[in-house]
Amino acid sequence: MRVDADDLQAPTRNVMSAICDRIDRVRARIAAAEQRYGRSPGSVALLAVSKAKGEDLIREALGCGQRLFGESYVQEAMSKLEALGATDMAWHFIGAVQANKTRYIAEHFAWVHSVDRLKSATRLSAQRPPALGALNICLQLDVGGETSKRGLTAAELPRLARQVNELPWLRLRGLMAIPPASADFEQQRQHFAAVRAAYEELRASGYRLDTLSMGMSNDLEAAIAEGTTIVRIGTAIFGPRP
Ligand SMILES: *Cc1c(COP(=O)(O)O)cnc(C)c1O
Repeated sequence: MRVDADDLQAPTRNVMSAICDRIDRVRARIAAAEQRYGRSPGSVALLAVSKAKGEDLIREALGCGQRLFGESYVQEAMSKLEALGATDMAWHFIGAVQANKTRYIAEHFAWVHSVDRLKSATRLSAQRPPALGALNICLQLDVGGETSKRGLTAAELPRLARQVNELPWLRLRGLMAIPPASADFEQQRQHFAAVRAAYEELRASGYRLDTLSMGMSNDLEAAIAEGTTIVRIGTAIFGPRP
């Protein structure tokens, strides 16, 4: 389902930009799905995934009110964060967490969506500057049986959740998943439902979680139907990547 951005009351802006237009369209898709699937308006946050895109486009997105940005590669993020300086925005790390890059992540990011082993979690906690407060963490769940070697199986999840929960400078917030790409809505939904089930199971065993990070440009509606609280959108905002 699509809602045309022109149907919305666009906030007043000084400059019309293609990025703002695209963000409006994504926000309209989110709002329509929230309504359609009985979610509260505004219950799904938008993370703009700016990987492979320059800081000019990020500035443009900032200019139209976007505040949450996602990056997948530390090396690439470093130059952008430096160029943008201390702006009023929150950076979320969504890529593979390599042990030799944890310090930079701990010092510069507000969230990490993609924790799937104890070693990197322990380093992130140890390297988190206390002045920044605890680093928000989602554990990455592997759904759909892809052999990407990333993400935890449902069986591995409880143990790492317990371990992460005990680390002083990490705050376990929920789960993240990247299901295999599918054009079929019901199939998309099935994968997200599996993530949600694992999340509910953790909550039932006492964890105070509030975040489901799931849904990308092509499947955000199915993710919203299954309870996501933050969608990670790259292509639909910034265009295709090389
Ligand atoms: C690249 C990426 C996205 C964005 O995907 P799009 O299909 O471009 O919206 C979301 N999440 C993760 C983890 C990614 O690596």
